[in-house]
Order: sequence, then C-alpha cells, then structure tokens
Amino acid sequence: MKEFVDFHIHTTASDGNFSPAEVVTQAAIQGLVAIGITDHDTMDGVEDARRAGERLNMEIIPGIEFSAHFGDKEIHILGYYCRMDNIILQKILGRLKCDRHERMEKMVHKLNKLGIEVSFAEVLAKTKGNAIGRPHLAGVLCEKGYCRTLGEAFQRYIGYNLPAFVKRREFTPFEAIEVIHGADGIPVLAHPGAYGKIDYFPDLISSGLEGIEVFHPRNTVLVSYKYLKLALKHGLLITGGSDYHGAPQGQGPQLGDVQMDPSFLRKLKRRKGILKGTGRKNLIYRNEGFHL
Ligand code: AMP
Ligand code: ZN
Ligand code: FE
Ligand code: FE
Repeated sequence: MKEFVDFHIHTTASDGNFSPAEVVTQAAIQGLVAIGITDHDTMDGVEDARRAGERLNMEIIPGIEFSAHFGDKEIHILGYYCRMDNIILQKILGRLKCDRHERMEKMVHKLNKLGIEVSFAEVLAKTKGNAIGRPHLAGVLCEKGYCRTLGEAFQRYIGYNLPAFVKRREFTPFEAIEVIHGADGIPVLAHPGAYGKIDYFPDLISSGLEGIEVFHPRNTVLVSYKYLKLALKHGLLITGGSDYHGAPQGQGPQLGDVQMDPSFLRKLKRRKGILKGTGRKNLIYRNEGFHL
C-alpha cells in the first residue's frame, strides 16, 4: 500500500471535532504514516497526539497554524517543529488565547444586540477548554435554531465584516514568521488559494518564509501549479494537507483528501536538522521523540 502524509490537521485543541487521540486513530485507519497536528494558535494537542501515535506507529509532525492579518486579509502561517518550551512562543500563545476570549465576548455582545440570545458560557462549553473560535459560536447558533448549518452562521452573522464579526488584534504574518523562527520552527504559508493575490509574497520570503502549502482543498489546480513553480524557483519547501476538522463526509475536507509523498516530510525534517544524510541507513536523529 502506498504510504502518505497529511501535514495539516485540526483537533479539539482548537476547532476540530475529534481529540488528538481520535484523529490519530482515524489517520491510522486511512493508512497515513505521518500527520501534522496544526491547531489554530495552540500546540496543546501535540503531546496527546504523540502519545497516541506511539501506540499506533504514527509519526506526529508537531505544528501550529497562526491566524495572522495583513491589510484586510487573514493569512494563516503554519509553523512546524517549534520548540514548545520557547518563552516568547509561550507568551504569544498566551496572548492569542486571551485575544480569542475577548473577541468572542465582543461577538456574543454584538449578537445579543441583534436580538440573538447566546451567551459566552454556551460558546465556552463547546470548546472543551481549548482555543475558542468562530466555529464554536456557529455551533451554538445552530443548536439554538438561529441557523441550519455552520456555513449559514458564517454567511449571515460571523463571516468577515458581517454584523457580528469582530477583527482580531493585529498579528501579522511577518510576526508569525518571526515567532516561529525564534522557536526554531519552520514557517510555511498555509493554503495560498484562500487569499486571492498577495502582492507582498516576496516580502514573506525575505522575512524568512521557508515553505508553501502547495496542496490543499482550497487551492485550485492553477493555484497549486503557480505556487509549485514559486516554491521551486525560491527553493522553498513544499507541503500539503487536508485541513481536516472532523466534519462529516460532504461537509468539509476528509483525511486522505490530500496525500503527500513521505519524501516531502523528509525534506522538512532535513531542513530542521532532525534528519541527516540521504539513505535510510545514514539517518541521524537529533531530537528524541521524532521517528520515521
Ligand atoms: P476564527 O479562528 O475564530 O477566526 O475561525 C476561523 C475558522 O472558522 C476557520 O479556520 C475555519 O475552520 C472556520 N470557518 C471559516 N469560514 C467558515 C465557513 N464559511 N463555514 C464553516 N467554517 C468556517
Ligand atoms: Zn479551523
Ligand atoms: Fe487555515
Ligand atoms: Fe487549518
């Protein structure tokens, strides 16, 4: 059976529907050999995923997906192999968690003003104590009968610039790249197909961007082709992932929707310095806990 890797997956540590251990089990069933745990603004799911991964012989790529903003666009930056004990990373993650709470309180307040009866406590209860996000709020709106689907909640109330939308505090992709580098991680531009044209792409590269998520359900074939050429031209790493959030079939990406050859992971690890040499026999592992 062909072995493949998915570099971009969410868990209940942010707005995924399944716990890290459940996601690892599902990925093993799908035949994946390695998965990236890339929750929004948190690495809280990585340790649990690793423990589950050890039992099922599934390699876990420790990751994070920063939600950043530049101009009026939301840009996501993935960070792989960050040192979780890095003080600045910890401080930023703490701040982002607070920002998410404050923002949610404001969105709930805006909805209340529109006559919609939701409370912050109801949204918080949906998060299982982890990073709070708009999908949790959308879930409450659906449960209370204000919307039929999560998508409808986004289209009517909480999507960009809609009546109950609140912008997050400024955190730019350049800051995200800096924080990831500061924690010895590898910054990768997530799903470029989601942004339209970004004219500051060269600035991202000169700021230290090291890879592009060339393959993603939101990238059309043309977008993938464009960014594949850019990655090759600039010597950037190539990644790809499903962005699985645990949605049922037909309601969002599924595990296995994007299947990356393990050679892309080897290149990522070589960049990090975890992997040296080319042949299997020559592999040297500098960090314990990471295995092929
Ligand atoms: P937040 O991080 O709180 O701004 O929420 C952003 C997340 O909401 C994204 O990562 C998606 O998982 C989800 N999302 C964004 N737009 C939609 C939509 N139209 N329908 C369903 N989920 C969405
Ligand atoms: Zn999400
Ligand atoms: Fe994203
Ligand atoms: Fe994502």
